[in-house]
Amino acid sequence: MNARQAAGAGTSRKLKESRRLQKRAEQLMPGGVNSPVRAFKAVECDAPFIVRGQGAHIWDADGNEYIDYLGSWGPLILGHAEPTVVEAILSAVVNGTSFGASTPVEADLAALVIEAFPSVERVRFVSSGTEATMSAIRLARALTKRKYIVKFDGCYHGHADSLLVKAGSGVATLGIPGSAGVLEEVSQFTIALPFNDPTALEQAFSKYRHQIACVIIEPIAGNMGCVPASGGYLANLRTITQRENALLIFDEVITGFRVGYGGAQEHYGIKPDLTTFGKILGGGLPVGAFGGSAELMNLVAPLGPMYQAGTLSGNPLAMSAGVATLQYLRERKADIYPKLDSLSAKLVEEVSACAKQAGVPLCVNRVGSMFTWFFTEGPVTDWNSASKSDTQAFARFFRGMLEAGVYLPPSQFETAFLTTTHTDKDVEATVAAARKAFVS
Ligand SMILES: *Cc1c(COP(=O)(O)O)cnc(C)c1O
Repeated sequence: MNARQAAGAGTSRKLKESRRLQKRAEQLMPGGVNSPVRAFKAVECDAPFIVRGQGAHIWDADGNEYIDYLGSWGPLILGHAEPTVVEAILSAVVNGTSFGASTPVEADLAALVIEAFPSVERVRFVSSGTEATMSAIRLARALTKRKYIVKFDGCYHGHADSLLVKAGSGVATLGIPGSAGVLEEVSQFTIALPFNDPTALEQAFSKYRHQIACVIIEPIAGNMGCVPASGGYLANLRTITQRENALLIFDEVITGFRVGYGGAQEHYGIKPDLTTFGKILGGGLPVGAFGGSAELMNLVAPLGPMYQAGTLSGNPLAMSAGVATLQYLRERKADIYPKLDSLSAKLVEEVSACAKQAGVPLCVNRVGSMFTWFFTEGPVTDWNSASKSDTQAFARFFRGMLEAGVYLPPSQFETAFLTTTHTDKDVEATVAAARKAFVS
């Protein structure tokens, strides 16, 4: 019995070409993929190869159409091939793709970030979220001259050595504690604490007095599924880090421009010392950034002693896509974010109602247009409670949805996203698919 028969779904979807492409890719790249989460390992079915996207819809190599709730793992808040973003990339590309010299558009994007995030006075662009968090931590250590960093179980901050400790995302999905190849000499300086637990935080700060350089957190975790920190917890975290002269880093790679134009820090009204960005910031092209006060950022080379560099950093195509995306959001934010919120609410509530009818335990976590359906009674407030989810039930649901033309993130421990291009009709089709998937 193959996976789709196990799911009890029909076999209407052809995947002949995707399977051929997968076989070919596997001969050339590890697992046939360039990021492990794309391998569909946890959901035990064939991954469609995607050839085109438009708005909220994507098409695979066999011509199957899907309503997309992955949004490239978060960047595509405006949907696929948004015309103003495409236009910005096209008009940049004809002038050359990279110069390794400064271009005007970098400051355009920097000004947009700084305006949106009052805690950021200076920003440095990099090419991925991984580079952003890695650099922010280096900066925190450069300033404080302390060794230890605090992160939280189930939070993912990219794949830098010091951050692959009790990480979320693919690491959590594959059920591995960290990564081979990370030296204990490196990971021993990473303190991993339970998310949303103020006591554990106090204990760590008293145990490692004057030794903690920074605390890095996803204020709304997206990489153990969607798990928001409580507002009180974040306020407490701000107080403790200030008291202990440790930096507070908000990893807003997902939440920046997602839960509101000003990200999670605007949502909670809390100012971190450093913020990391990625995903939406590049409008679907590879961009990351880290930023904070001018005083802090002046420690970065060439002004200061903290070295950080990149051949393709501030790439003009990527900067142009970012500017087009942020300008679009900025001009329409009063309209866009409430609409994303209400359509997302409608979707998660109606799908939850279907689960209830089918007698399937489901716990929904949602902040604006990011959400997860956890297959557990809940509440889900940290990695411990998230990991109680029935991942087999999730995988069955996932396969049923995919068969019905709904593309969800292929893991229980990831976040789904709405875009400005999803319609009521998409939501209704998704709810209808879910109603069937829960009972199959
Ligand atoms: C995706 C993500 C990263 C890593 O970004 P990459 O561009 O994949 O390197 C870091 N932090 C968070 C919160 C993320 O979701």
